[in-house]
Parts: sequence; C-alpha cells; structure tokens
Amino acid sequence: SDTVSPVAPNSAEARDIAYHLHAYTNARKHEEIGPLVIDRGEGIHVFDHAGNRYIEAMAGLWSVAVGFGDKRLAAAAARQFEKLPYYHDFTHKSHGPVIDLAEKLVSMAPVPMSKAFFTNSGSEANDTVLKMIWYRSNALGQPERKKVIARERAYHGVTIASASLTGLPNNHKSFDLPLAGILRTGSPHFWRDALPGETEEAFATRRADELEQLILAEGPETVAAFFAEPVMGAGGVIVPPATYWDKIQAVLRKYDILFVADEVICGFGRTGRMFGTETFNLKPDVMVVSKALSSSYLPISAIIANERFVAPIMDQSNTIGTFGHGFTAGGHPVAAAVALENVRIIEEEGLVANAVASGRRLLEGLHALAGHPLVGEVRGVGLIAAVELVTDKAAKKALEPAGTLGGLVNAGLQANGVISRAMGDAIAFCPPLIITESEVDDLLSRFALTLDTVA
Ligand code: PLP
Repeated sequence: SDTVSPVAPNSAEARDIAYHLHAYTNARKHEEIGPLVIDRGEGIHVFDHAGNRYIEAMAGLWSVAVGFGDKRLAAAAARQFEKLPYYHDFTHKSHGPVIDLAEKLVSMAPVPMSKAFFTNSGSEANDTVLKMIWYRSNALGQPERKKVIARERAYHGVTIASASLTGLPNNHKSFDLPLAGILRTGSPHFWRDALPGETEEAFATRRADELEQLILAEGPETVAAFFAEPVMGAGGVIVPPATYWDKIQAVLRKYDILFVADEVICGFGRTGRMFGTETFNLKPDVMVVSKALSSSYLPISAIIANERFVAPIMDQSNTIGTFGHGFTAGGHPVAAAVALENVRIIEEEGLVANAVASGRRLLEGLHALAGHPLVGEVRGVGLIAAVELVTDKAAKKALEPAGTLGGLVNAGLQANGVISRAMGDAIAFCPPLIITESEVDDLLSRFALTLDTVA
C-alpha cells in the first residue's frame, strides 16, 4: 500500500506499539495512532521526545501537586535510598519514614483520626478498606453487615473490589463486575440529573431520600458503609449542590453507617482546603489518600481511620492472632519519605492558598466562555474544574456517539500544547497546585482557541 504510516520504524512509538499494552486505551486504535511519548517535565509543563512543550493541565493523573522536576523530592528520595532503600511494616517491624508519615497524616486530618495504614495505590487502599469493613463487622458480631453503597459515576479504582465500587460502565463491562453486595445510589450532578424545575435544594433532598430508601429496602442492619469522593473526579468533576453533604451525612448517622471519604483526588489542597472533608464539612470515619500525597513521584496511598473504625479491627487481630493483610511495598520507606517531604512543600510553599487564587482565575476564565456555542456547563471548586461540551445547549446534548466532541476538543488541546482529559464530553482541568495566574491565562487562551477551531 502507498499509505504512509505516521509511526516511523524502530522509533519509540513503534516499539511502544510492539511491546506495550496500555492502561485505559483502545488497544487496536493504539496500533494505528501510537503514543504521545513524554520525555521530561518542569513545573507545570511536560515535553515530548520531539521537544514539544505541553501545559500538563491534569497534573498527570490529578496528582502532581508540586509540579514536575521538584528538587526537594529528588533529594529526599536520594537520602532515603542511601540510608534504607527498603523495609516493611509486617510483624511488628517499622522504620522512620512510615512512623513520621503516619503521625503527620493523623495529626493533620481535619477530623479526629487514630491510625494510618499504608498501601500503594488508591485502588489497593479502597480494596483494603472494604476488607477492613468486613473484618470489622465480623469482629462486632454483625456478620450480616457487609453491604456497602457507592454512587453512579464514582471512581474508586480498578481492583476487583474497588472497580465494583466505581460506578462507570467501562470499569464493569466485560469484566463480570460489580461484585455482589455493592449497592448503587445516584450521583450528585444537578445539571445532568435534576428533574425539570427542580431546585438544587430539592435535588439534594431527593438524593438523600433515595439513599434512605435504598438502606431501608436492603435492611439497615445489612449496610456497613458509604464510599464517596467529596468531589467526583473521573466521573466528570461533579461538585455537589450546597446542602447535599449535610443531607447525605444525616442519613448515614441515622442508620449508623460508616462514611469513607475517598480523598484520592481531593486531598492535599485540590478543593481549596487541605482536604475535601474541610471544604464540604464532612465527618468521615475513614479518609483514603494517594496521588497528591506524594505528588505521584512514587506510588503510595494511605487509609486514615478513626478510633470507632480501627478499635474493633485491632481487637479482632488479637482474637485471631494477626491482622492478615498487608503489601510488601506498603509504606515503602522511599515513598513515605517523598510523601512527607511533599506534604511539607505543600504547607511551606502555601500551595493550598495558591490553588485558591489560581483556581478562582481558572473558574472565572472558564465561566467567561459560558456563552460559547460548545459550552454546556462550567463546574469546579478550588483548582479542579470541568467544562461539559454540547452541540445543543437546550437539550444538553453533544455529538453522537457520546464522547466524540470531548475527544475532538481534547485532541485539539493537545495540538495547541495542552494535555487535558476528556471524560465523555466533559474536559477536565486539574493542573499542578503551583500553577500561577499567568499560566492559567495561557491555559485559558489555548482552550478558547481550541473551542473556536472545533466549533
Ligand atoms: N479513588 C479516586 C477518587 C481516584 O480518582 C482514583 C484514581 O484516579 C482512585 C481511587 C484509584 O487510584 P489508583 O489509580 O492509584 O489505583
């Protein structure tokens, strides 16, 4: 054939296609278009191996809070590598970095917390929380209390349990998921899910009523916990209406149901406070953190839990003789040292305040685009935002099939030097917390240009 492949033989792109099966990718389409190969990063920017520069408007995967190329984190990792590159916390062993980080996380938690347990990813952490919930219910002599509730469009990860908690079709389809015992309730997306004429307040009441009806239908004595992101991330950056969390938490309290706040995206400044729990006045029993905990420089996640949650688990370990759960690399000393240094940078450099200022600028700039024919809804809080794209504003509809318009704008942004993420037809913005207001303006002008090009 005389068609020229865009992928040169023996290039990094060709070898990627030959040898690398990608996460979250249409694997056959990848054989045609190949990867974008990123070579280095600096501040809010990354560079591909041809030298093209991009604003990393997703902070990698919602995670590189301090930006790319932070020298303090490299130095913290190097110091710990030299001193003790590996140890673990099984069978009464410990090490300095994991102790320091546990103390830091418990003491900085915005609600009284008691202990931190370490895992390597958000998925592992949520999976572990579910196992802890089952273990705890058995410890309390309530073996029937094992069901958990999560929401439509939630994202809690991809292991068998955490993918079951996730409420997005692609995480279930063809995987034979979700597991039994994971119940589903509605998402708090007012713009998409409100009934005609419904106020935000009435919508929030309806969502809380639906939650209560679900609990009553299943039997409150069978429902152990409710998992939720303070702001839904991968499900489309869904910021709930003002009264939503108060109403939901009242239902959880009424039936003595544990509340697990998945802070994997919200934690460490993203929503304009250190934790989403503060931004929305939440009272979780468990907070799950990862991503910005280490700015994803190394994999680490943590489960931060209160006394009510951990005491029965600790007692049960005494009865059985051990808490039979843990990961070889859980609380890895280099990852823990990097996480601790990263949290110090966020505090010392005032990155939460910067997220507030730059986030305000970002949201103002996006709202200024509301009149654009392709813009349906602009939503966000702190320094996380999304723009829902439409071709028919009144019907809130985009091109068929869903995701086409989002894909076009996302590709256009990449051509204009911005890496973003399309979630269906919503484009997410979640840049590093260090982004300056003038860098936000640069991002906004590239987005406006892209919208005009696609329109
Ligand atoms: N929870 C939330 C809220 C997330 O956004 C993610 C990842 O995007 C996860 C859990 C899963 O984390 P990981 O990809 O580290 O397993």
